[in-house]
Amino acid sequence: MFRLVNVMEVLVMETVEEILKSNKNLCDCLRCQLDMAAIALNKLPTNYVVTTEGEVLLRTNALKQQFKVDIIRAATEALEVVGKHPHHAKNQ
Ligand SMILES: [Zn+2]
Repeated sequence: MFRLVNVMEVLVMETVEEILKSNKNLCDCLRCQLDMAAIALNKLPTNYVVTTEGEVLLRTNALKQQFKVDIIRAATEALEVVGKHPHHAKNQ
């Protein structure tokens, strides 16, 4: 089956998760993770590919090398923004 995948989205979600793991003081609920990913993705170029399930990893790895620094920077900034102003009450 062919799928339309924004490779950048896959990489940003991955990176947000990784950074959250080492920042226990930040909220890691799904709402915050998606907010963080949205902010980061708006700063990065989209990179859509048509791919099969098995090829997704191959495509993401190639792009990861190219954009690693940009992705980490965008994700880190997004985490700071959402961490300071989560879109929900603090105790959620
Ligand atoms: Zn949250």
